[in-house]
Amino acid sequence: MSTRDGMICPYSEKCGGCSLWNQDYEEQLDNKYRQVNKLLKDFGEVPPVIGMGYPYHYRNKVHAVFGPGKKGQILCGVYEKNSHRIVDVESCLIEDKISTAIIRDIKELMPSFKIKPYNEDSGYGLLRHVLVRRGFSTGEVMVVLVLSSPILPSKNNFVKALLKLHPEITTILINVNDRDTSMVLGEQEKVIYGKGYIVDDMLGCRFRISAKSFYQVNPVQTKHLYRKAIEFAGLTGEERVLDAYCGTGTIGLIAAAHAKEVMGVELNYEAVGDAIQNAKQNKIKNERFLCADATEYIVDVAKMGEHFDVVFMDPPRAGSTKAFVEALVELAPERVVYISCNPETLARDLKWFGREYQVEQIQPYDMFPFTDHIESVVLLNKVQNPITYLNPQ
Ligand code: SAH
Repeated sequence: MSTRDGMICPYSEKCGGCSLWNQDYEEQLDNKYRQVNKLLKDFGEVPPVIGMGYPYHYRNKVHAVFGPGKKGQILCGVYEKNSHRIVDVESCLIEDKISTAIIRDIKELMPSFKIKPYNEDSGYGLLRHVLVRRGFSTGEVMVVLVLSSPILPSKNNFVKALLKLHPEITTILINVNDRDTSMVLGEQEKVIYGKGYIVDDMLGCRFRISAKSFYQVNPVQTKHLYRKAIEFAGLTGEERVLDAYCGTGTIGLIAAAHAKEVMGVELNYEAVGDAIQNAKQNKIKNERFLCADATEYIVDVAKMGEHFDVVFMDPPRAGSTKAFVEALVELAPERVVYISCNPETLARDLKWFGREYQVEQIQPYDMFPFTDHIESVVLLNKVQNPITYLNPQ
């Protein structure tokens, strides 16, 4: 099928990836604006969604599921909508082209190395998924082969053959997922080529990205989003800053140059490891990181009476928690910059701030063209004298 602006996607009707493939890009942005405006208009004025000049091939992280076809052929691509049938995908409009080509070539190499695709029903076969991440600014490429058992036959020759086709690959890992699960990655991981992670540059900082760490998938839009978040924070160099749900430390590390000190809190152990390395590599000495649940952390520091001037919060799609927001209000930072990938949970969480905080600015971004996700960044300022409504009785 062709999208309305003329790009062809032969998989759009089956593939569960792009729900908006049949809308042209302007229409997608209008619809996203309507959605986010409906959810956030009670908090403040919502400006138009900032979209991309070229909304294609923006994904720096590409995942393909492998499985056997009916005639014994190898299928690799995405699951059909609401099913576990694999749509064999040759090319994709939103994925990075180099990453897609690597996955196709892995598929081509498999028979000569006797690597069988994993069969979900029988549990037979080896290769379950391939994950490719590419640093758009550095060109570094990570390939993760997700296997049902730890042994890859003729491993060294397979690596050699893949590198011959794709010398741009800088690291290859084996991840073992031997469980009956819809999760892509298992616990066990082994580096079989290169350093085990890639790096990417963003707004003057260099970031290390491991297989399991969160890193925004659209680096072009991420730059705009982060720049806005830092602008909203209004840093002068004097502030104590908290970066809650900090991932590999991206936002806090970029902010650190403009702040007195930063504290990053993140639940994912590997991401915290990356964040610590990222601080070292960027010679940032005024940020520390803690591996902890953001709610538990903030409840504790609020009890201890600690002070932060600015708080960034960037929770996952499920949003934050009421306990987090209540403790945040108790901490009473001057400004809160909330970065959200789900306007529904954002609207819910903003209500929890109550009268103590006022939404000053909202800016939605289209980080995921052709899909229905909407990212927003919101600035909340502490209200100096919240009006107390007196009960007339
Ligand atoms: N700010 C980062 C990451 C945002 S994604 C960036 O821009 O790259 C959300 C992050 O929240 C993920 O890294 C996830 O691991 C983390 N997370 C999820 N639940 C959490 C919790 N309860 N406490 C702390 N971090 C959590």
